[in-house]
Amino acid sequence: MTTVDEAQKTVTASGLFAFRDALQGELIQPGDDQYEEARRMYNAMIDRRPALIARCESVDDVVAALEFARANGLDVAIRGGGHNGAGLGTVDNGLVVDLAPMKEISVDPEARTARVEAGCTWADVDGATHAFGLATPSGIISTTGVGGLTLGGGHGYLTRAYGLTIDNLLEAEVVLADGRLVKASDEENADLFWALRGGGGNFGVVTAFTFRLHPVHTVVGGPTLWPLEQAKEVMQWYRGFIKEAPETIYGWLGFHTIPPVELFPEELHMQKMCFAVWCYTGPQEEAEAALRPVRDTVPPALFGVQPMPYPALQQAFDWVYPRGLQWYWKADFVRQLPDEAIERHLQFARRLPTLHSTMHLYPINGAVHRVDRRDTAFSYRDVTWSQVIVGVDPDPANVDRAKSWAVDYWEALHPFSAGGGYVNFMMEEGQERVQATYRDNYERLSRVKAHYDPENFFHVNQNIRPAA
Ligand SMILES: Cc1cc2nc3c(=O)[nH]c(=O)nc-3n(C[C@H](O)[C@H](O)[C@H](O)COP(=O)(O)OP(=O)(O)OC[C@H]3O[C@@H](n4cnc5c(N)ncnc54)[C@H](O)[C@@H]3O)c2cc1C
Repeated sequence: MTTVDEAQKTVTASGLFAFRDALQGELIQPGDDQYEEARRMYNAMIDRRPALIARCESVDDVVAALEFARANGLDVAIRGGGHNGAGLGTVDNGLVVDLAPMKEISVDPEARTARVEAGCTWADVDGATHAFGLATPSGIISTTGVGGLTLGGGHGYLTRAYGLTIDNLLEAEVVLADGRLVKASDEENADLFWALRGGGGNFGVVTAFTFRLHPVHTVVGGPTLWPLEQAKEVMQWYRGFIKEAPETIYGWLGFHTIPPVELFPEELHMQKMCFAVWCYTGPQEEAEAALRPVRDTVPPALFGVQPMPYPALQQAFDWVYPRGLQWYWKADFVRQLPDEAIERHLQFARRLPTLHSTMHLYPINGAVHRVDRRDTAFSYRDVTWSQVIVGVDPDPANVDRAKSWAVDYWEALHPFSAGGGYVNFMMEEGQERVQATYRDNYERLSRVKAHYDPENFFHVNQNIRPAA
């Protein structure tokens, strides 16, 4: 018996050599040249030291990694794009199943579907589908991983028109805790398919996703900015507009300090402002009329809405949030924005603690509401927004300040929320919060978990406990 890591876990050297030999991809350990880079997560606040990082290149690699972890009693973290705020794509002293090398995408333009391997980011997917004038709903930052975003639900620019990302998931290929590869769809393992659509990485390692695609090529999109003095009026208009607007209009609203870059007029630099980012997917010739209320109701200080390829909108803000910032975020689902909630929002908007800190309200109405909340694990379909409050800064010295702003802000607004929050916008906040998010779907999730993962092998996630 030889100790091969710094994790106090003992792994037989021969077992490790055999595992390394069996893997097509790299196996990275503490001490290896690539280790420090390989263990880094998107959120620099996360500082975990896995015993092993298995860069999986195939389903066989995933199966071998899970088998090795099981044989050696190692905790397993599943990593897609590594964007999870709580850092659930890595684990101290355990094994990371890093899917990043699995990047194959095949688009069937006739059937309007795409099969996407689990290591892809949304930039990869958008690039592949845009070539055919097609797209599927995802998020608003293109460097985010397909895996984590999809399994938590997934909302973004196409959500009012075409639903959550999971509403467009047709099939998942999954390696289960016992090493079996299965398909999950409406036809096969339907209970697993139900649970995967919102239940996160609790049920197995998804190695490939098949999505439904929609005709989306050039959109009319971009930001509008208003001074904070107008924010109350803007929010009072927006809360009604986004409920009634055609589903071809998506607009998420927030507060931000305007970065001092050429893209924005100099007089707006470093101003704390209210903003919305729009995406119109209807006929181009009708865009101006459709978006007129955005321009005319409370005339913005900047109206940056224009025709652009859909992937350009998807990537438009990647530069604002590069990898390596410190992130602390808190989430809630929100039904209404009464005047008192708006007042509280404004109190915290005036105190945005750092250049990157922000609050976003993402609409999840429109097509999302046409799916019953019991039809997939994602429960909060009867709300208007997914709200996230994020304290962000590059400097660890500012983390406490940014975090306490986010926590205080969340506490002030939580009484106006629907109860739970989006799992993909949560830190590790305990079982009560996870259950609040799934509401009465939790019990069914727990039964599906007991069937597919009775020992809770996959527990590095927003954990659903297997039913007794
Ligand atoms: C800048 C930024 C912008 C964002 N914008 C949006 C947005 O617009 N809309 C939105 O919906 N979300 C958004 N998110 C949240 C995002 O959905 C989550 O952070 C998500 O966890 C990221 O997925 P990932 O694969 O990159 O994460 P990872 O850290 O790699 O994985 C997170 C977790 O997902 C699970 N997982 C990942 N891949 C698999 C797989 N193949 N099989 C099984 N389990 C898996 C695991 O449990 C893992 O712990 C954003 C996040 C960031 C940081």
